[in-house]
Amino acid sequence: MTNRTTASASVLTSIDSICCRAGAGFADGQPLVTPIVQSTTFCRDGVDSRAEHQYSRVSNPTVSALEDVLGTLEGAPPAVCFSTGLAAETALLLALVKAGDHVVCGRAVYGGTTRLLQQVLAPLGIDTTFVDSTSPAAVAAAVTVRTRVIFVETPANPTLEVTDLRAIAAIARGAGARLVVDNTFLTPALQQPLELGADVTVTSTTKFIDGHSVAPGGSVVTRDNALLERIRFVRKSTGAIQTPQHAWLTLQGIKTLPLRLRAQSASAETLAQWLAGHPAVARAHYPSLGHAQLADAQHLGAHGAVLSFEVSGGLSAARRVAGALRLCRLVEHVGSVETLVTHPASMTHADLSPEARAAAGVRDGLLRLSVGLESIADIRDDLESALATITAEVAR
Ligand SMILES: *Cc1c(COP(=O)(O)O)cnc(C)c1O
Repeated sequence: MTNRTTASASVLTSIDSICCRAGAGFADGQPLVTPIVQSTTFCRDGVDSRAEHQYSRVSNPTVSALEDVLGTLEGAPPAVCFSTGLAAETALLLALVKAGDHVVCGRAVYGGTTRLLQQVLAPLGIDTTFVDSTSPAAVAAAVTVRTRVIFVETPANPTLEVTDLRAIAAIARGAGARLVVDNTFLTPALQQPLELGADVTVTSTTKFIDGHSVAPGGSVVTRDNALLERIRFVRKSTGAIQTPQHAWLTLQGIKTLPLRLRAQSASAETLAQWLAGHPAVARAHYPSLGHAQLADAQHLGAHGAVLSFEVSGGLSAARRVAGALRLCRLVEHVGSVETLVTHPASMTHADLSPEARAAAGVRDGLLRLSVGLESIADIRDDLESALATITAEVAR
């Protein structure tokens, strides 16, 4: 695995420390671990009190502790935290666009992002053009005078293609649009979109940041203070703030985020290379396999825990392999300490039309793996025995 760190080295040096001290108190007699402040409301000295916290739909001390950490990880504290990743995306888009505005979105983004844009925002008069964001020319060609937002996810889901954020940021600046990056797969530990020119990052903390499949959440980070205020206003007005318990669980998860991601990425890279040479596998996708140079320039020393691979034999073969896995658990999720497998065509991307699936690169034989912390030998053995159920047929 590559250890070259060509992007944001100054930020990287402190990320481990910021994470392991997440929410910790340092003063005499303070608890080492942030308490869960389980109160919906806060007392005031007088009717004009400007107390920091007044009502937990607007702000809560435990949520604020998480917001400080997540913002600090991107050099732009505080973040704004939400009940889920999609709540964060919804509030962010409502803060950025209005009827008549246009969005350019990468075609290989999270399925829920596509659904939000096509089935919730389009009927409100906000249209989206979906493009291959790995082609800056395609993004530039889709931009119109009405474009306010360019939304990309990199590495893409589930194809793991890498979008050149510096190139897309230049297009956004030229068009007077905001570049929003969904950083869920790499997190600030492995990719710093703001440093690469993005205006806003949005992250589903439900995945790697929590890391233990216990706390849904989402966060938005930007250096634009006016936008930050607007996002907080939308959150207060629509009511999708993070809960204190989930914020607390997320803070616990963050403490080991860089360690987990480095270990899980190392296993993912080795497994992707092994799968690429497996006789039952038509092709494997991982950032360093297809987009090595850009991936090295954009990622902080590792490429994430998610890989995907296409088994020979299409739909029935993929379903057979998914069903035969024992250690790797079949779920619709990424980012946990357990190895998780998804068959996107029948799970995460089942709502899309076959044409939309094809455009997003989701072939019938594709399986997505979110590599966990089990021993790599155990994961490989499990994959090997599941693939053996179709190898005999491939050989015939
Ligand atoms: C899961 C996910 C989301 C949505 O997050 P929720 O917390 O499930 O709402 C958005 N983007 C990506 C890349 C995701 O994996």
